[in-house]
Amino acid sequence: MAANILLVEDEPAIQELLAFNVTQCGYRAIQAYDAASAMSHISRALPDLILLDWMLPGTSGVELARRLRAEQRTRNIPIIMLTARTDERDKILGLESGADDYITKPFSPRELMARIRAVLRRRMPQMSDETVSAGGLELSPTTHRVNAKGAMLDLGPTEFRLLHFFMTHAERVYSRSQLLDQVWGDHVFVEERTVDVHIRRLRQALEPSGCDGLVQTVRGSGYRFSAS
Ligand code: CA
Repeated sequence: MAANILLVEDEPAIQELLAFNVTQCGYRAIQAYDAASAMSHISRALPDLILLDWMLPGTSGVELARRLRAEQRTRNIPIIMLTARTDERDKILGLESGADDYITKPFSPRELMARIRAVLRRRMPQMSDETVSAGGLELSPTTHRVNAKGAMLDLGPTEFRLLHFFMTHAERVYSRSQLLDQVWGDHVFVEERTVDVHIRRLRQALEPSGCDGLVQTVRGSGYRFSAS
């Protein structure tokens, strides 16, 4: 479940450097050289994070960040601003426009990757590759394995994503449509009852280890993962 990172940068050398490092870290890089092409990528599919250059030809990075924050659909996409400016006032302006973090050029790839990981971990814990444990389950995103009280589970890809989302968002109730957005992705036209089908499969897989009760139905609202 590699995160999709949209790179918005007009300088080809920096764009290539970003794409190289992002790909090396196991993410998928989507490249855009200006705000207009960034918007056209975003309208097709929401990226998991945007690395956004401040100085772009035409619409600036700050302006693009403001537009994304003003729209319901794009409001929550994590944004890291890239800029050559070091001025403190500009930094504040960048963060006020809605950026989650800020990095000044020239940057070290290591630092940039650390920032990307930190923002993803904070904003989308299910996109992190860290092992999560809860209620006797241990899920490893890197090996795609789930250990349930000592037994390895055999989960389909959707059940795996669903469980990963639940484990990183425990104790909260999610409606079927929220789960579709979060686990299946937006712009995906699947019926809400599809969620029920995959919940059933997930519970069946958890049943032998006695962990199926972790996935709870909240009548009239949706589902909740609870280890308490
Ligand atoms: Ca630039």
